[in-house]
Amino acid sequence: MKRKTWMAALLLLALLLAACGGQNGPAAQEEREEKAVKEPSASAVAEETLNVLKVEDLPADFILGMDVSSLLAEERSGVRYFDFDGQEKDLLQILAENGITHIRVRVWNDPYDEQGRGFGGGNCDIRTALEIGKRTTAAGMKLIVDFHYSDFWADPGKYKAPRAWEGLDAEAKAQAVYAYTRESLELLRDAGVDVGMVQIGNEINNGLAGETDWNAILPMLAAGSRAVRELYPETLVAVHFTEPHNKGLYAYYAGLLRDYGLDYDVFGSSYYPFWHGTLENLSTVLAEINRDYGKQVMVLETSYPYTGEDSDFSGNSVKADYEGSQNYPFTVQGQADAVRDVIAAVAGTPGGIGVCCWEGAWISVGGASWEENSAKWEQFGSGWASSYAAVYDPDDAGKWYGGSSWDNQAFFDPQGRPLASLRLFSLLRSGSGDQSRAAAAPAPAPAAQPGESLPNLLENGSFETGELSPWVLTDRGSGGELFVEDKAVDSLDGSWHMHFWNPNRNSVDFSLEQTVEGLPAGSYVYSISIMGGDCGETEIFAYVLVDGEQRADAPLQITVWNSWDTAELSGIVLTEGQKLTVGISVKCAGEGAGAWGKIDCAALRAEG
Ligand code: CA
Repeated sequence: MKRKTWMAALLLLALLLAACGGQNGPAAQEEREEKAVKEPSASAVAEETLNVLKVEDLPADFILGMDVSSLLAEERSGVRYFDFDGQEKDLLQILAENGITHIRVRVWNDPYDEQGRGFGGGNCDIRTALEIGKRTTAAGMKLIVDFHYSDFWADPGKYKAPRAWEGLDAEAKAQAVYAYTRESLELLRDAGVDVGMVQIGNEINNGLAGETDWNAILPMLAAGSRAVRELYPETLVAVHFTEPHNKGLYAYYAGLLRDYGLDYDVFGSSYYPFWHGTLENLSTVLAEINRDYGKQVMVLETSYPYTGEDSDFSGNSVKADYEGSQNYPFTVQGQADAVRDVIAAVAGTPGGIGVCCWEGAWISVGGASWEENSAKWEQFGSGWASSYAAVYDPDDAGKWYGGSSWDNQAFFDPQGRPLASLRLFSLLRSGSGDQSRAAAAPAPAPAAQPGESLPNLLENGSFETGELSPWVLTDRGSGGELFVEDKAVDSLDGSWHMHFWNPNRNSVDFSLEQTVEGLPAGSYVYSISIMGGDCGETEIFAYVLVDGEQRADAPLQITVWNSWDTAELSGIVLTEGQKLTVGISVKCAGEGAGAWGKIDCAALRAEG
């Protein structure tokens, strides 16, 4: 799961705060009470028929997984789950009866404060995994263990080391990964837990256990893998990345792992249809990993909303306003279709071994107000974060702690009754109901933005000529590296981009611009993109000059590798004969190994 999940949640919260004058304002209270009596319409559809388009030739051992990491915290909060006959049952039994083969659990080293109060998100440590693992084994399914090697959420935006490992150097951290993985798996093995797969890290794109240098990360992965091989020799070892839609990203990581000689079996990906590009692209990039690196591939996390409504007073990551831009409606049938198509895409990919849904039972804890639910989230850890997480993650969890951001993507309604979409997994091989839906057509390209199809009026806007010309570079700093570079994995499109790097502090300071003459009168839009790292404080902006006079500018940010920021300046009105200059100005204080970055995809187009 990605950081932007929580960012979306906090955005909603901020909007609520702004609209309601604070969490406890009367307007907010009224809105919550109104919501509380309104059950999502989906809660009544458990017995409705579900159309499931048959997935041809689905292998008998294809992994149909479900992450239920929050289960114990949900149960302690009073949540109950029911089967299709209305019988209350162990959730794991219900899932097994409905075709789920694997249960996934995240594992944090120590998600508790010094007083023993849980950080939330299920308070998932190895004891939680052990309890869920025993019940999973009893229900005849296998466990997927997802080590985050952190005390709380790890993803591309967060990869903090466990507190117990702070101050360790890279070598000592690799040793700690080995010891921790080994002792954790010993607990599971001694209890007879059937572990089908172990993930060494969660969405490790940008870092692992506080390290961002792959020279430090790779030995940690190797240490984790070695511990798995020793304890569970038959179990698959998986690595887990996200952002499959970022061109060249997976091949880059797979190359790093191969060059290092990492011993692993499965290259896993998150794939959220609303964030991660088309199914066709997913299938293509995973097939390349299988072909070029000889690894099995799978989707370790996916999901889709069955409703745009929130049911626990804690804003959801994917809200109703996303629906219009998606290929499937936010209905129970739409949810089933979306997940079915992910399964069909992976099953049709060479080396594709499975798909796991994320937190499919993380529903409302059932209270009639934020306050009532919040008391349970705090006490039992059933929300995404509790206030106690502030000691470890003060800026995000410590400020924005709350409930489930995923209740509208569960396979159960707010009362714990299964949605018809839960039948999907047992109906994939036979198909069910109407078979007329077009089979898993690759998602159509997003609608063109106005003006997008119009020609780019800049010459060499993406540096694909391999020359600087006609760009004009003004270096106000101390030089360093500043040139047009041929490296596809660092380019936003094509294989060339403008590269800069300077190991000295306060030495990156340049501008890059080009001037276009003879444009017809009209309105124009200019855009340009940048990414980089180790930049410290920056002052970066895209700008437009008309006849040499400053007309407009827009700030840009540099964060981490491959996280591109794009500035767009629209409504640039020109009269006949005016000269237009577009550019980017970059100034970085630098830190670590020195400020570096990549600039690409400059475009100037007529508007509308
Ligand atoms: Ca919610």
